[in-house]
Amino acid sequence: MFRYDDLIKEVDLFCRHGIETGTVGESELKQRIPYIFVGKKNGKYMIVQGAMHAREHLTALLVVCLAKHLVKNTRLPLDGGIYFIPMTNPDGVRLCQEGVGFIADKQRKSNLLTINGGSDFTLWKANADGVDLNVNFDAHWAEGVQNGYYKSACNYVGKCPFSAAETRALRDFTERLRPLVTLSYHLKGEEIYWEFGQKSHRRLRDKRYAEAISKYTGYPLVTLKGSVGGYKDWCIERFKIPAYTIEVGSDRFEHPFPYSQLSVILRQNLDLPRKLLNTVIRDRDRLADSGLDALYE
Ligand SMILES: [Zn+2]
Repeated sequence: MFRYDDLIKEVDLFCRHGIETGTVGESELKQRIPYIFVGKKNGKYMIVQGAMHAREHLTALLVVCLAKHLVKNTRLPLDGGIYFIPMTNPDGVRLCQEGVGFIADKQRKSNLLTINGGSDFTLWKANADGVDLNVNFDAHWAEGVQNGYYKSACNYVGKCPFSAAETRALRDFTERLRPLVTLSYHLKGEEIYWEFGQKSHRRLRDKRYAEAISKYTGYPLVTLKGSVGGYKDWCIERFKIPAYTIEVGSDRFEHPFPYSQLSVILRQNLDLPRKLLNTVIRDRDRLADSGLDALYE
């Protein structure tokens, strides 16, 4: 199992090898949310994030491995820079792996045990406040068919958009960077979500990249009606950029998802961030040269 402590050690290791690392922000319980940066500081960025849902902590290790792959293969051309955020929900991941033992606040502890209906948190998805981070973004917030309105292990939208410290941290980080594309890793199902009401040229563009991702990973594209408030949804609406949720891991397995599947998942995704960012950058540069970039605004 890949734990928050392991992540901090991995990040320190990147740092000691001269790779830029830093902090996106802090969780509700004041744990830092680290990033690893690989590539050029030329304003042409991508964000790749994982473990927004607690029980999907395998994706944190996946994102670390994707960053490592680029660090080890510097000969592969990379036209921009990639911010890897392996664990967007560190409190949730710890809760899921350790139970409430690490939480100091007695009231919070007992609330969480009540919400969860017991001390086994292995299937928990939310943060340490019972908010599902991937429905807490300001993109048709709380209009989803599966949205919940009470603190829970999953699906609770929060008091308002960005009520959670983790979603605020990712929002502010994304606003500062203005990435050209984002990838969010979730578990499970081997599917790609790409749509959030894009029209005309943007729709064609975002679908074209989605089809390229599908070809690379072997996962089909899926349209999910009534799913709102996610990071990808917010990126598409707020920045008019292509943004994708990739559900890795076969549905043949149940949660807690077996780490033995990591090698399969890695093979399916290994060079995807670099290839996608390069394609997006080259298309944008071509469009800017031809003066057609306004079509996508
Ligand atoms: Zn998820």
